[in-house]
Amino acid sequence: MIDNLKQIFSFLDDACTAKSIVSVLEEVFPLNAIYIYDYTTDSLRDFSKSWMYIKSKDLNEVYEKLASKKYICTKNRSYYALYNNGKIIGMLEFNDKLHEKLLEFLELSAFCISLKIQNIILSERMQKNIDFHDSMKNIAKIIETQYETGYIVPIIGEMIDKFVSDHLVYIFIGGKLIWPSTCNDKKIFELIKCLNNKSEYILTPDKKIGLFPLISENKLLGCIVTKSTDNVLSEKEIEYLEQLSSQAATTINRANVYAEILKHATLDALTGFYNRRQLEERIKQEVSSAKRQKRSLCAVMIDIDFFKKVNDTYGHAAGDLVLKTVSRVIKMHLRDYDIAGRYGGEEFVVLLPYTKIKEAEVVAERLRKAVEDTKVDLSKIIPDKGEIKVTISLGISQFDGTDLIQNADKALYRAKETGRNRVCV
Ligand code: GH3
Ligand code: MG
Ligand code: MG
Repeated sequence: MIDNLKQIFSFLDDACTAKSIVSVLEEVFPLNAIYIYDYTTDSLRDFSKSWMYIKSKDLNEVYEKLASKKYICTKNRSYYALYNNGKIIGMLEFNDKLHEKLLEFLELSAFCISLKIQNIILSERMQKNIDFHDSMKNIAKIIETQYETGYIVPIIGEMIDKFVSDHLVYIFIGGKLIWPSTCNDKKIFELIKCLNNKSEYILTPDKKIGLFPLISENKLLGCIVTKSTDNVLSEKEIEYLEQLSSQAATTINRANVYAEILKHATLDALTGFYNRRQLEERIKQEVSSAKRQKRSLCAVMIDIDFFKKVNDTYGHAAGDLVLKTVSRVIKMHLRDYDIAGRYGGEEFVVLLPYTKIKEAEVVAERLRKAVEDTKVDLSKIIPDKGEIKVTISLGISQFDGTDLIQNADKALYRAKETGRNRVCV
C-alpha cells in the first residue's frame, strides 16, 4: 500500500488539469466524481465535469452533513470529505462502500488530493484573469488596425467565449444579430428592445441571461448577450463583461466613425472599390495577418480584355460604364470579407482571406463566367448603340511568403498570352 501511495503522490504531482487528476484517482479508487463547493456562486459543482452545477438535493444534503463527518455511506454510494485548513471544500464520490483499506488509504491521501485540487482551481482562475487581460489588450490593438465592425465583432465574440465558456455569447449591433449567425431565443430579442443609451447591464431574474449594452459617446450601439441553460453568471464574470462591453463599445464606435471618414478618402469614385492607395494598405494588412495566424490568403488580379478597343470604338463614357458594370458584377460574386480594389485603369485586385488556391480558382472562374454572361447596355449613354459584352482575364496566386500581387500579375500575364477570357494560376 505504501508503494501505491507513493505512486499516487508522484502521479498527482504531475497532474495539472481536472481531467488528469480524476484519471489518476480512478486508477486506485472506485471514484465516481469529485464535487467542489464554489464560493463565488455558492453552489456545489462537479469538478471532474468542467465545473457543471449540481442541482441534486441529495448531494447538497450529503455535502452539508459532511461538514461534521469525515465520510458518509448511502445506499449505493459513499462520500469522503475534502478539507482545507479545517474547512470542508468538497467531496469525493465513490461507487462502492468504503471498506477499511480504502478508508485507510483516504486517511493518508485526502489532504494531498484536496491540496492538488485547490492548486488546479487557483491556476484555472489565474488563467481566466490572464485571458481577460489579454482580451482587453487585444481589443485595444484592434482599434489601431481595423475599422470594419464585420471584422471586429467576431474577434470580440470569440474572446468573450473564452472566459464565459459555459455560456452562449451573442453580439447585437443596431438591434441586429451580428455574431454568431443565429439566435433562437425570442426572449433575447424582446429584452434587447428594453435597452436605451442610459442602460446598465440587465440580468434576468434567474440570472441566466445577461445583457451588456454597448454604449459609447451617449449612443447605444448594440449589446453583448450571454445565455446559459445551466449556470448563472458569477460576480467576477459580470465585472469582466461590464469592462469588456465598455471597451468593445469604444472600439466599435471609433470603427464606425473612422469608417465613415475613410469611406470618402479610400474608395474609388467610379467603381466603389478601394482605391489604389487603400488597396495597398489592405494587402499589407491581410498578408501580415495571414502570416501571423498561419491562414491561407489568395489574390486575384483581373484585367479587362481589349478594353482600349471599347474606348476607341464607343468613347470614354462607354468605357467607364463597362468599368462600372464589371466591378458591380465582381462585387456581387464575392463574400462579405473578400476585399476588392481598383489596382489601375481597368485592373482590379481581389483578396480572398481564408482561401486556398483551389477555392480561389473556383471563385475566379465564377467571376470570369459572370462577366462573360453580362451585357452592358450602351443605349443609356449612346442612344443608337445597343448592348455589348466584354471578357476578363484573371491571374491568381496563394500567399507563400513571396510577393502575392506580383505572382498574381505573372499569372494574369499568362492568361493574356494564352488567349484571354481565362483563369491562370
Ligand atoms: P488587354 O486585353 O491586353 O488587357 O488589352 P487592353 O486593351 O485592355 O490593354 P490595356 O490594359 O493596356 O488597356 C488599358 C486601357 O484602359 C488604356 C486606358 O485608356 C484605359 N483606361 C484606363 N483607365 C480608364 C478609365 O478610368 N476609364 C476609361 N474609359 N478607360 C480607362
Ligand atoms: Mg490593363
Ligand atoms: Mg486590359
